[in-house]
Amino acid sequence: MRSVAIANIGSLITNDETLGDGFLGQRTHAGLVIENGKIAWIGDSGDLPDADSRVDLEGRALIPGFVDSHAHLMFAGDRSAEFSARMQGQSYSAGGIKTTVAATRSASDEQLEANLTRLIAEMHSSGITTFETKSGYGLNVADEARSLAIAAKHTGETTFLGAHVVPAEFAADDYVALVTGEMLERAAAHAKWIDVFCDRGAFSVDQARDILQAGIAKGLKPRLHANQLENIGAIALAVELDCASADHCTHLSHEDIELLAGSNTVATLLPGAEFSTRSPYPDARRLIAAGATVALATDCNPGSSFTTSMPFCMAIAVREMRMSPDEALWAATAGGAKALRRTNVGHLGLGANADFVVLNAPSHLHLSYRPGVDLIGQTWLAGKPLTSNAAFTTTI
Ligand SMILES: [Zn+2]
Repeated sequence: MRSVAIANIGSLITNDETLGDGFLGQRTHAGLVIENGKIAWIGDSGDLPDADSRVDLEGRALIPGFVDSHAHLMFAGDRSAEFSARMQGQSYSAGGIKTTVAATRSASDEQLEANLTRLIAEMHSSGITTFETKSGYGLNVADEARSLAIAAKHTGETTFLGAHVVPAEFAADDYVALVTGEMLERAAAHAKWIDVFCDRGAFSVDQARDILQAGIAKGLKPRLHANQLENIGAIALAVELDCASADHCTHLSHEDIELLAGSNTVATLLPGAEFSTRSPYPDARRLIAAGATVALATDCNPGSSFTTSMPFCMAIAVREMRMSPDEALWAATAGGAKALRRTNVGHLGLGANADFVVLNAPSHLHLSYRPGVDLIGQTWLAGKPLTSNAAFTTTI
C-alpha cells in the first residue's frame, strides 16, 4: 500500500511518552509517515522521509482520533419534548425510556441502521474514530438481537445491554432470567461486551453480578453502568469482576475511589449526561489524584445525553469538572482506548492505527478554549481522510 507523509504539524499529540513531552507525548514542528494504515514514523518535520504522497498541514495541530467507549446508538424516536420540559423544571410523564423502547421495537431494520449511520457520520465529523455502542432499547429477545446484529456491521465494540431497565410487562426476576437465558443466547453472537445498568431503580448489585457472570460464561467481557444516580455498591462489583470500565461514577465513596485506583477498571465519566439532566458532575479530580484511570465518553443516547460531540464533553470536563485540557484530551483518546482494552487506538505510537484528527487550530487546547466551535478539520481512519479538505495542500 502507498505511504503518506504528513508535514508541518504545528503540534502533534502522540499519547506516547517516548515520542514527545509529558504524558501527551507532544511534539512541535512534527511530521509523521503512514504505511499500510499504521503509524510508521514520527519525528521532526524537517527530517520527514520520502513517501508516495505528502500532505502539508501548515502548522495545524494533529491529535489521535477520539475513542468513544460509551454510546447508545441503537434506537428510534425523538425525546426532545422531554428535554424541553426537564430544562423548564417540569416533571415529564410521557414515558421516558419507554418512549424509545416502543419506537425502537416498531422501527424497521432499515430505519434502525439509517439512524445508526447518521450518528456515526456525526461522530466522524466530531473526530471520533473508534466507538462502542450498546443495545438496550429492544428489551425483548428479537429486538435486542437485531439491534446488536445491525451494530456489529459497523463496529467491533458492541455491547449487550438487555439489562438496561426492566420492561413494564415483566417482573424483575423473570426478566433477569430472560436476559441471562434466551436473550443472552441470541445476543452473544453479535456482542463483544456485556453491560448492566446497576443503579437505583434499575438492577441491584446481586442481579448485576448474575447477569455479568452469565455473559462472561458465554465469552462476553464485562463493563458496568455504575452509580450514576446513587451509590448502591456497583463499583466494588465492577472491580470484583475486572470490568474494563465502570461508567458514570457520579456517586463514589472514598473506598470506591481506592478500589478503582488499585484496579484495571477505568472510571469512564460521561458529563454530557449530567449536563443534559442538570445533575452534579462526578469528581474527576479525586479520581485523578488517587491514580485511577479516567476516560471521557459521550454517552450518546436519546434520553439523557444526545450528543456525538467529544469536544463538547471535553469542554464540560474542563470547565465544570476541573480537568486540565491535557487531561481531558488524554481521557477522550487514550483513556477511551483503555476502557475498551484496546492497544492499537487512542495513541499515535509506532504501529498504532493511523486514526487521527487534523484540527483547524494550532493546538488541542483550543478544543476546550473555543467551546461550541467546530475545529475538526479532517478525520483520518486507517490512514485515509474521510473527507477531502481543500485547505490542505496535498502533493503526489
Ligand atoms: Zn449509558
